[in-house]
Amino acid sequence: MTDGAPDSETPKGALPTIYMDHGATSWPKPPEVLDAVVAAMRDHGANPGRGAYAMALSASRLVFEARRKCADLLGVQDPRDLAFLSGCTEGCNLMLKGLLKRGDRVVVASMEHNAVTRPLHVLQARGIKTIVVPTDPDGVANASRMESVVRAGATAAVVCQHASNVTGAVQPIADLADIAHENGALLLVDGAQGAGHLAVDLTALDVDAYAVSGHKGLLGPQGVGLLYLRPGLDARELMEGGTGGGSSEDAGQPTERPDRYEAGTPNTPGIAGLGAAVGLLLEHGDEWRAEEQRLFRRLKEGLLALEGVTVFGPAPEEPCVPILTLVSDRMDPDRIAFLLDRRYGIAVRSGLHCAPWAHRTLGTIDTGAVRFGVGHGNTDADIDSVLEAMRKVLS
Ligand code: PMP
Repeated sequence: MTDGAPDSETPKGALPTIYMDHGATSWPKPPEVLDAVVAAMRDHGANPGRGAYAMALSASRLVFEARRKCADLLGVQDPRDLAFLSGCTEGCNLMLKGLLKRGDRVVVASMEHNAVTRPLHVLQARGIKTIVVPTDPDGVANASRMESVVRAGATAAVVCQHASNVTGAVQPIADLADIAHENGALLLVDGAQGAGHLAVDLTALDVDAYAVSGHKGLLGPQGVGLLYLRPGLDARELMEGGTGGGSSEDAGQPTERPDRYEAGTPNTPGIAGLGAAVGLLLEHGDEWRAEEQRLFRRLKEGLLALEGVTVFGPAPEEPCVPILTLVSDRMDPDRIAFLLDRRYGIAVRSGLHCAPWAHRTLGTIDTGAVRFGVGHGNTDADIDSVLEAMRKVLS
């Protein structure tokens, strides 16, 4: 199985792209995001937090403003509890490696992405025990099953994604927070597919750590993300280095937030783009989410009606981010994705979606599946084209 084209066919040439891979990254980005990235380099090109001249200060202000907007969107009271990182992968690594220690027991649901499973694999060798709890067959974590496993031994952390990058299922994070906290454990959340597609209030959700992708539902550029750490939670940093301050003390990495977690020159253009995107979401997020949910339901219902197609994930009326995967009894997933691209200009992703645990849970580990992700910028005409193309490809 490959993630690319299984064989060659006449390239699609000038076909316009119908982009349905929002689970990987959102595209196209709003023009305000593109402008903000360029303006950061053109008008605020100095390093933020380093130097007291005008352009360094304007770059610092830009980062400060972006952090404040992200805190507003995510329901975080003190923006300093949000660190800018390279993406959700770095956030997952930081929360897992920074908070867990030898002898800890971790309970995790069986739909996790490699951004969680691979750090846990490394931590296993460092004496941290992981217990994987199967989700229900639709990929939704079963809170009561998680609870009995948590209670069966002293548990340091419960780890769960907010939403699946394979089925779109939204996990019962508020229930898991209660279960974790009643049993003296932390709740650590991979929010890659949550933030942006769902209205997220981290204070109300009562999570201890929440890792965010900037480039998916938040509509920012690639290479930027966030990690929220509950106030007072002492996570070790992944990297030490320059933060622009505290250098006279010669006493190692500063402990104050967010500097502790932001060693090295920051990705100012990425942060500026994310700030612009989050500004738009603060203004239009409810309306945009409602529209992507409407389009997604149309797509899901249309695909469910196709003969010989199995769609994985919750029923159309259940809470879901706008992602689904499917298999057909007529054609393998790589071939479907290939033909959709080459014949119809439709961008979808086949394979295992960096989530072998999830595909093992769903029973698709040997074949993979085709993933469709709807997002900002998709239209009714896109949904019509995808349904028509699927009918033709599978006929
Ligand atoms: N977790 C999940 C559930 C994801 O879908 C992804 C992105 N595919 C990640 C983590 C990693 O996110 P990033 O690309 O921001 O590192």
